[in-house]
Amino acid sequence: MTAATTHTIAVGGLEVEVVRKAIKNLHLAVYPPDGRVRVATPLRVDDNAVRLFTIARLPWIRRQRVKFLGQERQSPREYVSGESHYVWGRRYRLRVLTGASVAGVTLPTKARLVLTLTGDHDQVEAETVMLSWYRAQLRERLPELVGLWSGRLGVLEPEWGVKRMKTKWGSCNIQARRIWLNLELAKKSPHCLEYVVVHELAHLHERHHNGRFQALLDQHLPLWRSYRDELNRSPLNAETW
Ligand SMILES: [Zn+2]
Repeated sequence: MTAATTHTIAVGGLEVEVVRKAIKNLHLAVYPPDGRVRVATPLRVDDNAVRLFTIARLPWIRRQRVKFLGQERQSPREYVSGESHYVWGRRYRLRVLTGASVAGVTLPTKARLVLTLTGDHDQVEAETVMLSWYRAQLRERLPELVGLWSGRLGVLEPEWGVKRMKTKWGSCNIQARRIWLNLELAKKSPHCLEYVVVHELAHLHERHHNGRFQALLDQHLPLWRSYRDELNRSPLNAETW
């Protein structure tokens, strides 16, 4: 049996990892945090066929990336009392107070999230206050995390920012030395944020998700695969043809 070989091809601006090995069918998978695309292919299938195969499934790939973020499972937030909201992997029941002099969010107990609004139950104000509070949560933890892991990985500390992203948990602009973290990470367990930070910092050493990249993660964050799976809890992240 021939050993598996791995290389990377570009398909429509997408980086696709091709693993060629003694299997019968093509198998396509998309992984968090940044929507890495991997095609496992039989030995007889060449790169051009892999390219065509991938192009035909670009809409599916995009749907998988959206699914990572739970946007298809999560019903739209109405910001009414009794609704469930997540903070650092923990579930809280929302209580909305209106007509206050200052808007804000507090966590008075381990199960209760209080959202205080200045207006009279305005959904736009509710969402704005919640999102800026989530952003503040991330901005509070990130300086220490980025500093710590830049040191451990031996990279110069990059610029970083938090923003809403539809299809990725994180991204790294290697030239600009800037990493972006998805605002939604404030709803996940803290080790998910840590994994995304380590993953994006590792790109400052290695652009591609190749063996060298994975070895870096194995060395510094041995449980990274379980954190990745936690971010990608949906069962439909892979398809076989
Ligand atoms: Zn990556």
